[in-house]
Formats: sequence, structure tokens, C-alpha cells
Amino acid sequence: MGIALIVHGGAGAIEEHQVVPHRDGARRAAQIGWEVLTKGGNALDAVQAAVIAMEDDPAFDAGVGSFLDRDGKVSLDASLMDGRTLDAGAVAGVQRVKNPIALARRVLESEHTFLIARGAEEFAAEKGIALIENAALRTPEQIAIWEQCRANPPGRDGARYVPLQGFGTVGCVAVDRAGNIAAGTSTGGMKFKRVGRVGDSPLIGAGVYADNARGGASSTGWGEAITRVVLAKYAVDALVDDRDPRDIARAAIEHLARRVGGTGGIIIADARGRIGFAFNTPRMARAFIVEGMAEIVAEC
Ligand code: ASP
Repeated sequence: MGIALIVHGGAGAIEEHQVVPHRDGARRAAQIGWEVLTKGGNALDAVQAAVIAMEDDPAFDAGVGSFLDRDGKVSLDASLMDGRTLDAGAVAGVQRVKNPIALARRVLESEHTFLIARGAEEFAAEKGIALIENAALRTPEQIAIWEQCRANPPGRDGARYVPLQGFGTVGCVAVDRAGNIAAGTSTGGMKFKRVGRVGDSPLIGAGVYADNARGGASSTGWGEAITRVVLAKYAVDALVDDRDPRDIARAAIEHLARRVGGTGGIIIADARGRIGFAFNTPRMARAFIVEGMAEIVAEC
């Protein structure tokens, strides 16, 4: 048993010029989370710290720099799960919070598991989390992408639904010294999404899952497909009989593709501190380190 941490920065058609920012951003986030673990911190704090680093990095579709919805606003979803207690916290459709994962943490610590939109923001204010203007989450790059989408709306190709391209959702799974496992996911959702649309990321079981008895997982990709196969729970449930998380990650993504034609990626850590990941998109930004490794491996 050892400490371990893996992050993803989204799966999709990450363009050439975005590869380095995604890879380096994932590495920085993993470093921040890893420091929490190596100093004896718990898995939940490590996940939260790593996800906040990526929410604050405009390279990713989470926090500042997220894709804009059709109405030109950013709305954010996030989830966090504690594998020790199975406590979970999630928020969706949040427009005035800089770090939705920190708000998901407060929900996890409350009597609720899921708060949305205005109610989630009211709860944030009650908990002393500053409410910001939505404009503070919008970057010039994302406003330009939104204007292109408005001029040429993506979405349908005849009768077939084409998932809106997008990538940059972030997630993290960590195992701490005490063997506790936590997982978290945060996103601005799909590019140019319908107002009110929520994907898999804040759904416990689909976008995130953690159970100390088995492991933890965070998903990314086409949210509607991931939701229908409850991907994160599907993967964690398969972590039995000492099976290798690398095989489980591959099997989960194969299941996503075969059963619902889905595209995306997943990161996993098991109770022994082993990690795995898989994706069926052109790229997925990720970074990981487990006890005994000299340094973080970051790839995209
Ligand atoms: N899964 C996210 C969603 O559907 C998007 C992503 O992972 O890129 O909202």
C-alpha cells in the first residue's frame, strides 16, 4: 500500500498548440496534490488542491477559462467524494463561484449531496465563499470561441447528434498514507452547451466515485454517454480480485464505446495505490505519481 495521485485535464481533440499548456498544467496540479500527500495530508485535501490548481489555470475547461454556454455565460459543475465515509458533494450550474470544487467540499461536509444554481450560490455565500461576477470567469480566448460557435452553431449533423467538441474538464484521484481514497471532477461542461445542460461531471457514480474498499475514479468526455453507463462507478466496482487498474480503465472505456458509442477518458487509483488511465479520444492530458517514482510523469 502506498500513496498515489493521478490527475486528468480532459480528453478530446486537444489541438497541437494546447498540448504543452495542458501537459504542464496537469503536472503542476499533480505536484501540488502530491505535496499535500507527502506532507501527511489526506486524500480529500490533495484532490481539492490539485483540482483548484487546474480550475485556476485558464488552459482547462474548469473555473476561469471554461467554455461559455449558448447565452454567453460560464456555468460550472463539480463533484468530490470521500472513499472513507462515502460522503459526496456536488454542485451544478454555478455561475458566480471561482472554485466549484471548494464549494463541492462544503456540500460534502453538509447534510446534502447535490446543490444547483442559485441555491448552491446562496449556500456558498452562507459558508463564506466569495461570490464573483460571471465575467471574471470568461477569458478573451473563450469569448472568441463562443463567437465562432454562434456564427456556426455546432451540434447536429442531419438526424445524428454530434457531441459538441470540447475538452479540458479536470479531475483527480488520490490515495493517502492512511489508505483513504478521494476523487474529484470539475468542468465548465461541453462547448457552447445549452443553458441548463448538466453532464456527467457532478453526478456521483458517473463523473466521480471513490470507495476505500476498492478505489476511486474521475471521468471526462462526452457527458451524456458517460452518464448512461455510470462510468466511474462501473470502473470502481470492477476493482476486485486484485485486478490491475490499467486493465480496468481500458475495459471501462471499451464499455463506454461499445455500449453507448461514447468517447472520453478515465483515471483510476486502487486501494493499493496503483493507478490506471485510458481514453479513446485523440488526446487526454494527465499526470501521475505513485510512491517510489522519482518524479511526476505528465503526458498529453
Ligand atoms: N464530461 C464533461 C461534460 O460532459 C465534459 C468533458 O469532460 O470535457 O460536461
